[in-house]
Amino acid sequence: MRRDGDNIVTIDGPSGVGKSTVARRVAELLGFSCLDTGAMYRAVALKASEAEVDPRDSASLSRVLSQTTVEFSPEGHVFLDGRDVSKLIRTEKISSLSSELAELAEVREFLVGIQRKIGEGENIVAEGRDMGTYVFPGAKYKFYLDATVAERAERRFLQNKRGDIPLSDVEDELRRRDRRDTLRAENPLRPAPDAVVIDTTQMSAEDVIAAIFFRTKDISLRGDSK
Ligand code: C5P
Repeated sequence: MRRDGDNIVTIDGPSGVGKSTVARRVAELLGFSCLDTGAMYRAVALKASEAEVDPRDSASLSRVLSQTTVEFSPEGHVFLDGRDVSKLIRTEKISSLSSELAELAEVREFLVGIQRKIGEGENIVAEGRDMGTYVFPGAKYKFYLDATVAERAERRFLQNKRGDIPLSDVEDELRRRDRRDTLRAENPLRPAPDAVVIDTTQMSAEDVIAAIFFRTKDISLRGDSK
């Protein structure tokens, strides 16, 4: 019998651990949609930046949020107020601002509402920081990916084809984001008590994907994926 939460796989973990790559591929294998919630925080950061809102000005921020829509296309592109911003949100400035804005209750409430609505209607692999603990506590399949900060920094560094940011700076930025994610009052980053924790430090992305797919294989056997 199908229960609430059977249609949701959550993948949480710190910045740079490889959640996006893994979530996208697992979603493909299961025939589910992939919900990249980090992209939603980034879209809100872009909006705040373009509207020149001071994140500490709660009234202005709430006003801007009330005039904001964040949506995904079936291909996973993110749309801010109907505009495809998938590329624009991948800058250092937006990374840093999204991490700051993610501490604010009004931003989280706004995005969590949209995320839960998407989860009501679709089979999804949801990736972020608080998917298993807060947004979808009833999800049947929960994973938490971890890796040392040194390993995550190296992965990020190797991804940056231009190589214009020194490894030590990449590591410092990850430490800053880890601190914000784990210490914030609102839905901090931590594994859900019922999540499967995977230390990916010594694993390839393919190994992680296989480990998750293996544990969720009753979904594909169930035959109700899209
Ligand atoms: O995962 P990504 O780096 O794209 O996320 C951007 C920022 O959004 C992160 O620094 C994190 O602080 C925040 N975030 C969050 N909760 C989520 C997803 C992302 O706080 N569920």
